[in-house]
Amino acid sequence: LFGEGERLMLVRDVSQMHRLESMRKDFVGNVSHELRTPITVINGYLETLLDHKDSVAPRWIKPLEQMHQQSQRMENIVRDLLTLSRLETKALSKEQDRIDTCALLREVKGEAEQVFNQKEHSFELTATPNVYIRGNLSELYSAISNLLFNAAKYTPNKGTIKLTSRMLENGFEIEIEDNGVGIEEQHIPRLTERFYRVDESRSTDTGGTGLGLAIVKHVLARHGANLEVFSVVGKGSRFVCHFPIDSLIEAPSTKQ
Ligand code: ADP
Repeated sequence: LFGEGERLMLVRDVSQMHRLESMRKDFVGNVSHELRTPITVINGYLETLLDHKDSVAPRWIKPLEQMHQQSQRMENIVRDLLTLSRLETKALSKEQDRIDTCALLREVKGEAEQVFNQKEHSFELTATPNVYIRGNLSELYSAISNLLFNAAKYTPNKGTIKLTSRMLENGFEIEIEDNGVGIEEQHIPRLTERFYRVDESRSTDTGGTGLGLAIVKHVLARHGANLEVFSVVGKGSRFVCHFPIDSLIEAPSTKQ
């Protein structure tokens, strides 16, 4: 309302902003796509050379190993950038999966136990049975495994990592809790930004790309869900994915 019987209307043309935003998305997608082949080739040759160490002069072994490590890092970054670009540009398909959350959590836990076998963590799963959600199975698998793998990565050996799902009045939540290094409060709001890392050296040591939580945030947003982070330095962190009630669907009927 502006005056008596009058209205003030503000109009802003955001077409240019939208154009720039879509150029940015295309650019990141294209660059990542173009880089994939050359990196795969370099990586492949380095692997072959390292498989035949006896025919390589000894002084080249260390540099080759470092080149291989870095080319694998590049491969991971490009893979994650492509995933993000797909999440940003492609709408969630109409044909969605009926996801058995219990089975999903069991599977992710099994994979984490294998991948982090050497760290001797104890993974504890407490899942509410018979909860089914509508969504994209591979995207949600990747989101939950990113969170669980982070918990395992940023927790010193022999830690305890809890994976819990529970029904709430207004929805459903999946919680990943660790008793690892924790995160200082000032970093928490920025964690889901691309390439944001609390501790650069720790993250690159653990093979991180700095894109994992950005992927988690996008996947959850596409499913109408959100991420909450609680953490205390030196005590551990808790990442909670909250799904709204309308993402729940009925369990498949067992009647013949
Ligand atoms: P990265 O590939 O570096 O792990 P992410 O986007 O997955 O990237 O995470 C961003 C940063 O958040 C990490 O570099 C790390 O510093 C911090 N972080 C994520 N999960 C945890 C956790 N469970 N405990 C402590 N720090 C974490």
